[in-house]
Amino acid sequence: MIPPIAGRFVAGETPAAAFEHVRRTNEDGVNVILNLLGEHYHDRAEAETDADAYVSLIRDIGDTDLDACVSVKPSQLGIDIGDDVFRENFRRVVAAGDEHGVFVWCDMEDADTTDATLDAFEALAREFDGGVGLCVQANLRRTRGDLDRLVDVPGRIRLVKGAYDEPESIAYTDKADVNEAYREDLEFLFKERDDGIAVGSHDPAMISLAEELHAEHGADYEVQMLMGVRDDEQRRLAADGVEVWQYAPYGDRWLSYFYRRVRERKENALFAVRAVLGV
Ligand code: FAD
Repeated sequence: MIPPIAGRFVAGETPAAAFEHVRRTNEDGVNVILNLLGEHYHDRAEAETDADAYVSLIRDIGDTDLDACVSVKPSQLGIDIGDDVFRENFRRVVAAGDEHGVFVWCDMEDADTTDATLDAFEALAREFDGGVGLCVQANLRRTRGDLDRLVDVPGRIRLVKGAYDEPESIAYTDKADVNEAYREDLEFLFKERDDGIAVGSHDPAMISLAEELHAEHGADYEVQMLMGVRDDEQRRLAADGVEVWQYAPYGDRWLSYFYRRVRERKENALFAVRAVLGV
């Protein structure tokens, strides 16, 4: 069972627990992106098992009136085993999403996988007429060029700052440079697209910028944040009429995800210490 301390960031171990979280979160006007925890598989069977789990999750979401969709990771669907394995599993999940009316996002992982992920996304976005979305990382120097390529591809784009440590040769490593690249990428998306823009950030400066760009250019957008991070702000934005999607992981591989959340920010670490001490 997930201890309460990790339950802030993880929606439960089973689909039933995750659905209960979605139901409660939807009551606050916040939609949910479910991610089955799992990554970096080197065994084809593991990747196929998770693809099967997504297909059945999508069928179950389609049978409810919940405001939920899913997000998969390339390495969970087998990209470390082979690009063909990833493409096959990803296609199966997107086809299920298409059949049951459930949107499918794809996370972006380390830079070695960017090309294969972009190629698979573009092919599926065209085949399924936009029922799929892709995360792109502002910290990568290549991303402005990738956005030129993606701008006319159907589907959605989630812009994040980037969670992977990449070398200076291919990535901005200074926080100010990453923020500047994020602003430029967001401006580009609002100028070039009419919709399908997701602001994947907890940063108040980026969320305000999206509001301003929406007022100026009119393109529709949504804000995406992680479960357990600025939950009050998620509810406040939703009450203000912004489309908000919360990324909520679930599954029994929650321990490493929880440690990542605690390590990445002082606020999260303090929360963990307080929970342990009961203060
Ligand atoms: P930061 O630059 O970390 O922080 C900026 C400001 O935001 C802070 O000064 C503070 O005001 C506020 N803030 C941030 N965190 C907190 C907090 N815990 N409590 C209170 N205030 C806070 N990365 C990938 O590489 N690939 C992915 O596929 C991917 N998917 C993501 C999906 C979603 C929905 C989200 C939200 C993030 C995803 N990320 C992904 C992670 C992302 O790349 C960043 O590492 C992460 O979001 C931190 O950057 P930030 O923009 O939120 O703000």
